[in-house]
Amino acid sequence: MAADPVRLGDPVRGVELPVEPCGMEVLAEAVEGEPPLVGEERDPPEHALPTECDRLRVDLGGDRRREEDGSGRQLGLADRAVPRQAEGVRLTHPGRRASCDRIDRAGAGASTAGGDERRGGDERQGKRAHPASLPRSLGYARAMATSTAQNFQNFIGGEWVDAASGETFESTSPANGETIGIFPRSGVEDVDRAVAVAKEAFAEWRLVPAPKRGEILFRLARLLEQEKGALTDLMTHEMGKVKAEAGGDVQEAIDITYYMAGEGRRLFGHTTPSELRDKWNMSVRQPIGVVGAITPWNFPVAIPSWKLIPALVCGNTVVLKPATDTPALAERFVELLAESGIPNGVVNIVHGGGTTVGERLVRHPDVRVITLTGSRETGVEVLKAAAETLTHVHLELGGKNAIVVLDDADIELAVDGILWSAFGTSGQRCTAASRVIVQRGAYGALQSALVEHVEKLRLGPGWEDDTDIGPVINRAALDKIDSYTAIGKDEGAKLLTGGEIAGDGDLGKGFFYRPTIFADVDPQMRIAQEEIFGPTTALIPVADLDEAIHVSNGIKYGLSSSIFTQDVNAAFRAMRDLEAGITYVNAGTIGAEVHLPFGGTKDTGNGHREAGQAALDVFTEWKSIYVDYSGRLQRAQIDTEA
Ligand code: NAD
Repeated sequence: MAADPVRLGDPVRGVELPVEPCGMEVLAEAVEGEPPLVGEERDPPEHALPTECDRLRVDLGGDRRREEDGSGRQLGLADRAVPRQAEGVRLTHPGRRASCDRIDRAGAGASTAGGDERRGGDERQGKRAHPASLPRSLGYARAMATSTAQNFQNFIGGEWVDAASGETFESTSPANGETIGIFPRSGVEDVDRAVAVAKEAFAEWRLVPAPKRGEILFRLARLLEQEKGALTDLMTHEMGKVKAEAGGDVQEAIDITYYMAGEGRRLFGHTTPSELRDKWNMSVRQPIGVVGAITPWNFPVAIPSWKLIPALVCGNTVVLKPATDTPALAERFVELLAESGIPNGVVNIVHGGGTTVGERLVRHPDVRVITLTGSRETGVEVLKAAAETLTHVHLELGGKNAIVVLDDADIELAVDGILWSAFGTSGQRCTAASRVIVQRGAYGALQSALVEHVEKLRLGPGWEDDTDIGPVINRAALDKIDSYTAIGKDEGAKLLTGGEIAGDGDLGKGFFYRPTIFADVDPQMRIAQEEIFGPTTALIPVADLDEAIHVSNGIKYGLSSSIFTQDVNAAFRAMRDLEAGITYVNAGTIGAEVHLPFGGTKDTGNGHREAGQAALDVFTEWKSIYVDYSGRLQRAQIDTEA
C-alpha cells in the first residue's frame, strides 16, 4: 500500500512499530476525546506530534495501546521507538498508512546510523544527542531526545547548556568505576541564571489552574512507569542499589507523582464562620515562588520527586541541585518532567558541588524556599546561610534508628526486619536500623540467628540478580564506615561478623563493605550514637521495655523507630513514647508510604515533613481572606454583638 505523507493536522491514532533501530522519537500521547493532531500545539503541548524531530516516540497510553495498535499485542517500551529510516518515519493510522517524507536531522550528535550505533558513536566522541541540539522550533520535543552518550548539561529555561565556566565532573559507578557520564561543574553564574528564569516562569506558572498542573504531573507518572526499567538499571550502575531496591526507589517517585498530581484538584483551604454578620472568611494555599531543591545520592529519583512534585503542583518553580554522586538519575528525571509538558523555566537543574551551587542557591535572595535532604552538618550550614535572607528552610537530615526486640517477639520475623533495615541499601538509608535494642531473654537467640543469616548475604554489583548487598557510594564512605569499625573495637564492643572492606575478585573494583554486627554495645559508645551510614549495626542488651525506650530515645536524632513484640500494651506504649517521626510495630525501620508524612523529630529536621498532606505546608503559604458584604464598616473585636 502506498504511504501518504504525514501532514500537520493529521490525527494520531496509532503507530506502526519499528523493525529497525532508530535515532528518532516522536511523542504522541493518546488523550480522552479527540486524538492529538500532527503538529498541533495543544495545551499541554506534547499532544502535538512534530513532523520534524530527532527522535520519535509514540505513546498511546495504558490499555489504549493494545486497542489502537490493532495487532492485539501489548506494546513494550522498545516497541515504541519508531525507526528513523533514511527517508523518514512511518506512522500508521487506523485504516490508512502515512509516512513522514523527510526528517530534519539538524542537531549535534545525530548521525545517520541507527540508534544503538549512533549512541555508540556518540559515546566514543564524548558527544550527546541532547535536547538542546534539536531544532528550536520543536519546543518541548527538544527535551524528548535521549542518549546514553557521556556529556550532559544543565537544564535552564528549557535549554540544555554547559556550565558558564565550561568545567565538568565525572559520575562513576561505585560498583566498578565505570564512567556514567560527564556533567557540568556549575558555579554562581549558572545558579543565578537558573534562578532568574525560574523567577520569571513563576509569574505564569502560579496562574496555571492547579488541576492543569496536576494533569502534567499525571503524564509524568505515566512516563516514569514506562521508564521504570531503564531508570532502575541506571540506578544499579550509578548509585549501586540492588535491582529490587532501585525499582522501589523509582516506584516511590511514581507513587508520589500520582498522589500529588491528584492534589491539583484538592489543595484544600478552609472556610470558617465570621464573628460578624454578613461577612465571609476563608483561607487558601498560595505558592511561594522559586524553590531550591538540594538532594542526596541515596534515593536519587525518589527524593527529587518528593520535593519537586509537591512544589510544582502547588504552583512554585524549581531549581534542582542533585548530589554529584548521582547526577545522571536526576538529569533523567528532569528530562522526563520536560517531556511531560512542564513549561520552560518551571523546572531547572544545575549540577555541581554543595559549597558552590548549593550554597549559592541557599543564599540567593530570589530563592524563597530551600528544601534539603542531607546530613545534619549540611543542614546546620544551610540553616545558618539562609538566615540572612529569611528563606524558608525545610530540612530532612540524618538518623540513628533503633529496632526494639522484646522477649515475646517473633524472633524469625524480627531477624527478617533487622536484616532488611540494617543492610538494605548497604545501610545507606536515613531510616536504616543502625541499633538493635534487645531484651536479654531474646538476646542470645537473636545474635546467633542474625550472624548466621548475614554471613550468607552475597555482595556484588546491584545489577546482578543474585546480589544481596551492593557497594557503598564512594571511597570516602567506605573509609568512614571502616573507621567506625576501628572505633567500635577500641570502645570495647564485640565484633560478631564483618568489619572489613571486601576486596576479593571483582569486588576490588568497587566500594564494598562486609555487613557488620557489633554486640554488647553500650548505648553511649560512638557506634551507638553517630550516623555511620553503612552496613553496620550495634546490638544493645536491655532489661525491659522502659530501658529499651530510654536507650532508643537517648540519641540526638529522631527519624524512625520500631518494636517487635506480641504485647499490645507494650506496642501502644512504644507508639506513644518513642521519640521519632515514624514508629513501626512488628516491622523494620524502613517502608514509608507516600501518603503519610515523612520526617523526624529532634536533630533529624526542623519540624517540617515530606510527603503526605504535610508536604503542602512546605511549598505553600496560607492566606486568610475576609469578604464583608454588609455594606458598612464592621470592626472585628469591637463591633461585637452581645
Ligand atoms: P550531604 O549533606 O553530604 O549532601 C546533601 C546535599 O547537600 C548534596 O547535594 C550536597 O552537595 C549538598 N550540600 C553539601 N554542603 C552544602 C552546603 N554547604 N550548602 C548547600 N548544599 C550543600 O548528604 P549526603 O551524603 O548526600 O546524604 C546522606 C545524608 O542524608 C545522611 O545523613 C542521611 O541520613 C541523610 N538523608 C536524610 C533523609 C531524610 O529524609 N531525613 C533521607 C535521605 C538521606
